[in-house]
Amino acid sequence: MYCKGLLHTCGKSKTIHYHGSKRDEFVVSFLDSATSYTYQKNELVQGTGNMRCEISSFLFGVLEERGMATHYISHNQSGQMLVKPLEMIKLEIIVRNYAAGSIVRNYPIQHGQPFNPPILKLDMKFGNDPMLNSDYIFAMNIATPDELKLIRELAFEVNSTLASLFKEHGILLVDFKFEVGRTAAGEIVIGDEISPDGMRLWDVDTLASIDKDVFRFGSGDLLEKYKEVAERIMGVMA
Ligand code: C5P
Repeated sequence: MYCKGLLHTCGKSKTIHYHGSKRDEFVVSFLDSATSYTYQKNELVQGTGNMRCEISSFLFGVLEERGMATHYISHNQSGQMLVKPLEMIKLEIIVRNYAAGSIVRNYPIQHGQPFNPPILKLDMKFGNDPMLNSDYIFAMNIATPDELKLIRELAFEVNSTLASLFKEHGILLVDFKFEVGRTAAGEIVIGDEISPDGMRLWDVDTLASIDKDVFRFGSGDLLEKYKEVAERIMGVMA
């Protein structure tokens, strides 16, 4: 266990504590909760917190190796990640390679339609996560024009890195969400988590979901799917 200090944030799926006395590192504890606002579900699914932490840590490592800065420092086997402090930007950055979920519910677009180039969608982390455009973003000072340009480029770079990685293991990266924050020096850095909790992943042959959609639709065992993703991309898992 990392030594945890004062509570900083408590969300549905994670808690964040200050680490030690210097307050220059945080401990993120991944909880076993699975949530879907759209389908109004919130359940405890034993073991999923640790799995999300393992997969996120691995993917942060992959992104770091390709030169993309993340908040990741280290993690332990108890679903805890040590991270650098960030001032989080109130954006949910969503990249879509294939149509699924809200884009199919809200627009005349067929499930499974490929997007080439991929689609970038920016939602605000506020209320029901309303969709933004650049004018909204600048009007609310969520990010500057320079930051938004960087975020767009980063989103496509993260997408192509992750999509290639999953493809090597027979998995289609349908869509995913990630978040960024600013360091004290003003650098844009990837934060939060990157795991199948915020992704759609389909088996390339069967197109079966190996992500949170099995929880949303009650069509499978969420922990087993997360383990399958971990085993396929990381090789070994408990
Ligand atoms: O709901 P929607 O289809 O727009 O979601 C697109 C992708 O972003 C999905 O992979 C979903 O899991 C992820 N997402 C998320 N958290 C949100 C909204 C979307 O992880 N608040």
